[in-house]
Amino acid sequence: MKINDLDYLIVGAGVFGATVAERLADIGKKVLVIDRRKHLAGNIYSYTDKETGIEVHKYGSHIFHTEMKEVWDYITKFTGFNDYVHTVNTRHDGKLYPMPINLDTVNLLYDTNMTAGEAEKFVAREAKRDSEKYGIKEPKNFEEKGISLVGEKLYTAFLKNYTEKQWNTSAKNLSAEILSRIPVRFSHDNRYFMTAKYQGIPCEGYTRMIEKMLDSDNVKVRLGVDFRDIKNEISRDTKIVYCGQVDQLLDYELGVLPWRSLKFEMEKTENSLGEAVINEADAGVPYTRAHDYKYYQIHQPDVIEQKLSIVAKEYPADFKKDEEAYYPVNNVESARLYNRYVDLAKERYPNLILGGRLGAYQYWDMDKAVKNALELAKGLVG
Ligand SMILES: Cc1cc2nc3c(=O)[nH]c(=O)nc-3n(C[C@H](O)[C@H](O)[C@H](O)COP(=O)(O)OP(=O)(O)OC[C@H]3O[C@@H](n4cnc5c(N)ncnc54)[C@H](O)[C@@H]3O)c2cc1C
Repeated sequence: MKINDLDYLIVGAGVFGATVAERLADIGKKVLVIDRRKHLAGNIYSYTDKETGIEVHKYGSHIFHTEMKEVWDYITKFTGFNDYVHTVNTRHDGKLYPMPINLDTVNLLYDTNMTAGEAEKFVAREAKRDSEKYGIKEPKNFEEKGISLVGEKLYTAFLKNYTEKQWNTSAKNLSAEILSRIPVRFSHDNRYFMTAKYQGIPCEGYTRMIEKMLDSDNVKVRLGVDFRDIKNEISRDTKIVYCGQVDQLLDYELGVLPWRSLKFEMEKTENSLGEAVINEADAGVPYTRAHDYKYYQIHQPDVIEQKLSIVAKEYPADFKKDEEAYYPVNNVESARLYNRYVDLAKERYPNLILGGRLGAYQYWDMDKAVKNALELAKGLVG
């Protein structure tokens, strides 16, 4: 397929771009998918470590979870999923507690043995007392909201430091809306995604899933190709779905859209975590999470039972332009800047549609990315 002998150019071989490409190819459109990285799958990319058989999620743990049957029915055409159900413990003062906060977390922290009903009343009393202590009526920021929902002790142990590490700013500078409802379950349920009807890990890994999505005579893939280096070769009539950052596309003409970044420190070790993810809630530990990838492979007991683990520590990092963008810093100012970029992109590239988490400047879980891609593809073909 020549660069101009195509109906659509998809920039970005992540799950969003792959879904759009698959849907278009299915109805006979000729699609070229490019990615500047040398691998498929975008941020859900995973590879198998040869020595251990462990599937490493290069850009951090990815657990597929959704309540949307349409998304599940679609994605399971390309992969089987194992029965992994995500749970997380968080370390505070050297002890592990279930996360999100549940009845056991409360009892462990206060060294009590309360029933669900007793704990609910107890936490409400703590929250009321501490709100009065700090004069919080209408919470104005994350800190006030946290204290008003769970009281100072639970808030400081599990929410404050973790969040401040993530965003590298005081919780007083963060929006109260981040915590919309009480982050406590008064039960022993420790499932991280409690409402997800469907969840699991692709049995053959995420990259294989994306390969299968793109396996069509109508799809060509070129890796290690940046759109900015080939844009002049593309006919003005070619329709482009662009899953990259819009500020970068436009050479940061209006300024840099703010993101948070991450750095991963990976090691092969016999010091297994004993589970897939442990959060680090305290300020003295510079990373927020550690991932022990083998625990996702519950369909392969041999992989889990071996001595070795591959553990990645996840460090929050400030973002500089042209570095890896992980979490958008969504606020009024960044929304305004993003909207100006969207207008400018329409002017400069009339055939270009922004898509994916980078192009939309949004945090989306994989299911949301797939859902939005399915909708975009439907809209494109009428
Ligand atoms: C740390 C972390 C953990 C997460 N864990 C989960 C989880 O457990 N479960 C879940 O459901 N979701 C999770 N997510 C969200 C998930 O990563 C996203 O939903 C998903 O990656 C979105 O896919 P995408 O295709 O939109 O973007 P991406 O995967 O980022 O793909 C975009 C691609 O575009 C390419 N690109 C950009 N610009 C150009 C250019 N100029 N030229 C060529 N190529 C370009 C990039 O190289 C990239 O490969 C997590 C996100 C983060 C940050």
